[in-house]
Amino acid sequence: MSDAPNSQSIQRRGLMLVLSSPSGAGKSTIARTLLEKDKGLSLSVSVTTRQRRDSEIEGVHYHFVSETEFKRLRDSDGLLEWAEVHGNFYGTPREAAEQALSEGRDMLFDIDWQGALQLQDKMAADVVSIFILPPSFEELRARLNRRAEDTAEVIEKRLANAAEEMSHWGEYDYVVVNEDLNIAFSSVKSIVDAERLRRDRRPGLFGFIESLSKGS
Ligand code: ADP
Ligand code: 5GP
Repeated sequence: MSDAPNSQSIQRRGLMLVLSSPSGAGKSTIARTLLEKDKGLSLSVSVTTRQRRDSEIEGVHYHFVSETEFKRLRDSDGLLEWAEVHGNFYGTPREAAEQALSEGRDMLFDIDWQGALQLQDKMAADVVSIFILPPSFEELRARLNRRAEDTAEVIEKRLANAAEEMSHWGEYDYVVVNEDLNIAFSSVKSIVDAERLRRDRRPGLFGFIESLSKGS
């Protein structure tokens, strides 16, 4: 049997899908749906010093760590990027992300604009970044209240930070307004599908085209 590359096995580099938004715009909801429907994508589980919400599971949504542990990780170069957001520390564990990418697996990063900038600086060719916006400020407030996972004080702090966070929309490759969840999800999925087909992300095309050409 020939071991020439076929159209199914064309080698591709893993992409780093970065989703950011002001808190409450729906980024985690879109990320969750994407992870359920797209088995080629895995989530980068961040470390955080934030308190765990009732609905969150250690190791699934975050690795919840003390500030001492966070600083130990950060200072031993264990984080690919990190930032202080709404008064807590968050960071991306280096090892899991680097391993996925080296194996050509795609990873989703639910991180803020500071982290997105750091990944864009370090790994520009692999990063695809999407900024999710709410349809209005009133709806952003309503979603944070409906989520009912944070105290009133935390919600106010997040709303107060929203304008500053949204001012970074121009640093992203794509912007999606999450009014209707199904439409927003389809937009994000289309971006991922198209980015996977980019020529410069598919070094395996060289061998595939060579084998096609030999057959002609
Ligand atoms: P983020 O991760 O951006 O902070 P979430 O994904 O937690 O936001 O969404 C905040 C709340 O808004 C959740 O209760 C979620 O179910 C809800 N939500 C998300 N998208 C929509 C939408 N398009 N329409 C209405 N509610 C939404
Ligand atoms: P939350 O507390 O709502 O889970 O997240 C607050 C903010 O921190 C969100 O904007 C989220 O995307 C961001 N965030 C979560 N993990 C990371 C991370 O590892 N790095 C950075 N830079 N931001 C993160």
